[in-house]
Amino acid sequence: MVITYQTFVVRTPHHTILVDTCTGEDKGYPAPMDFPKQPWLDGFKAAGLRFEDVDYVFCTHLHIDHCGWNTVLRNGRWVPTFPKAKYIFHKKEYAAWEAATARGDNPPGNVWRFNCEPIVAAGQALLVDDDYTLDDTVWLTPTPGHSPCHCCVNIQSGGQRASVTGDMMHHALQCREPDWSTIFDWDAEQAAASRRKFLSDVADTSTLILPIHFPSPTVGRVTADDNRFKYAFVR
Ligand SMILES: [Zn+2]
Repeated sequence: MVITYQTFVVRTPHHTILVDTCTGEDKGYPAPMDFPKQPWLDGFKAAGLRFEDVDYVFCTHLHIDHCGWNTVLRNGRWVPTFPKAKYIFHKKEYAAWEAATARGDNPPGNVWRFNCEPIVAAGQALLVDDDYTLDDTVWLTPTPGHSPCHCCVNIQSGGQRASVTGDMMHHALQCREPDWSTIFDWDAEQAAASRRKFLSDVADTSTLILPIHFPSPTVGRVTADDNRFKYAFVR
């Protein structure tokens, strides 16, 4: 499998938003999660952004490769990377990883302690429910299964729609075989049900799909093919 790790920058008429924040820096994660930080920082700068420009950070879920840049290490403490941002976490997703951390599970290891809890401690988290809507351009759709309360982040503007689908699927093959789950899925059956429902909803529409781990060009559209689906990359 060729996969990528990435953050999406969403600019709405009102806000600058990041969706998912890769693995971050200084976390001490073992390979293969010890990615170099520079490509991410270079990409962030190339988008014309400074940390203080970000208004909202959405996490589709709270796995190691989706919330890393939430925080940076300053004077021995994990602090929010984006000083003015509100961070949107699903309330039950947050609680699930808090409980897993309390049990000493590994994974998630230090992911919750390093990347999530410091955001709440700083008062910058919004712990939200399934139906969270930021405004007329951005809202959530619950797609649980990959993680306890995984969500897709929907974007709407000028009559067009897109959806950042996080890890609802890791490979385009899962449109062909929606019932195939990866070993990373927390509940394979629920993940498959979420995938099938989501794909049915977007099939044969103009909705652009933005899966975090699909390699370049990443973005695509879905069409129905009997009870399966096809993913066509948009180049
Ligand atoms: Zn992932």
